[in-house]
Amino acid sequence: MTQLFLVRDVAVPASLLARPDHFGGERRDGLLSGDLLVQDGRVLGFTATPPREARVLSGGGRLVLPALAEPHLHLDKAFTLGRLSGIGRDLLSAIRAQEADKANWTDEDLRHRASRAMEELYAAGVGLARSHVDWGDGEDPAGTPRAWDVLAEVAQEWRGRVTLQLSCLPEIDLFAEPETGQRIAEAVRRRDGVLGAWCLGHPRRHAGFTEVFRLADRYGLHLDFHVDEGAGVELDGLEIIARERARTGFEGPVLCGHAVSLMDAAPDRLSNLLESMARGGIALCALPTTNLFLQSRGSGTPDRRGITRLVEASQAGVATCLGTDNVQDAFYPLGRHDPLGTLALAVPALHLAAPLGDHLPLVSTQAAQAMGAAPVFVDRAPAAALLLAEARDVAGLLSCQPRRKRLPEFIATAGR
Ligand SMILES: [Zn+2]
Repeated sequence: MTQLFLVRDVAVPASLLARPDHFGGERRDGLLSGDLLVQDGRVLGFTATPPREARVLSGGGRLVLPALAEPHLHLDKAFTLGRLSGIGRDLLSAIRAQEADKANWTDEDLRHRASRAMEELYAAGVGLARSHVDWGDGEDPAGTPRAWDVLAEVAQEWRGRVTLQLSCLPEIDLFAEPETGQRIAEAVRRRDGVLGAWCLGHPRRHAGFTEVFRLADRYGLHLDFHVDEGAGVELDGLEIIARERARTGFEGPVLCGHAVSLMDAAPDRLSNLLESMARGGIALCALPTTNLFLQSRGSGTPDRRGITRLVEASQAGVATCLGTDNVQDAFYPLGRHDPLGTLALAVPALHLAAPLGDHLPLVSTQAAQAMGAAPVFVDRAPAAALLLAEARDVAGLLSCQPRRKRLPEFIATAGR
């Protein structure tokens, strides 16, 4: 039997509809509002003439969003802040402090912290997330870490609620040794992971990137890089990636995070690079929390922003998204796993222009595409992938980051 629900008085950001012109409703400030018809767990659109048999629920002016996508996390490091020392300085001191903490990374510790992060992601309405995992096992920098297996088990436990992708994070130089790169790629493939690496002016980066593209092509893996995470220095990792992409014709998704050094690129160099990224379909992820906190650190007030040129990249046609990165660890002492919190920080950090709703794809549809997944639009989503948030507009949504309910939960608890 057909099940019909009419959720009265809700609004949908037009940027989150695949076909806003076919959805009905009244349009104002980038939002479409009206009475939403849901049939058999699928949204049909706004209607002015609801069928009489529909059960009517009050939406109370809430916003309807698709499940969010979170492309860049570190669940192996999250919530370690309380036991760290030597933090609050620059990137390299954070790396050292986090390294020292790895002595505490038992299976139980990893599982406990990662599970807490998954609960936050679920409560935030995230349907798809990606965590990077520091690579290396004790003395063996190419060995599969315990965290890789523990996080894979956590991902399995959360299947059906939050899809968690895992991306390995060795230094790019490890791939310059073909046998080593092979070991890493095989471990990644066994867990259906993403092939990743970090590059910060590493001496063997050219050979490393050549090999990482070859391995991704051979094993059909997606790529994800921490690249050029430095301000005030000349770095060329992103250019090497764009070149390798063009040279190899690799067709899988390539996502590049950080790229803070784009702030220092001369205008011609910047436009050439962004053009080659757009042509190659290389996506760029800005990570405002950690980069604002660690980059350009001196002894006083910072007078530069540690963040990548996301606005210029978007204008040049590069696929862009935002990631939450570190949460309460050596790299960033605050935060929670909520993409709306990240977008709220990105608005002032990146001077994102009004209407604010136009930027929601950075933490939803565009982020999913950058991760090689199909984007979830409101007008194509099953009800379980739709969220209702207690906010009347996007400014309220980002300011308060209110509780989000999935549509089936909202229907089940309506009136209670
Ligand atoms: Zn990161």
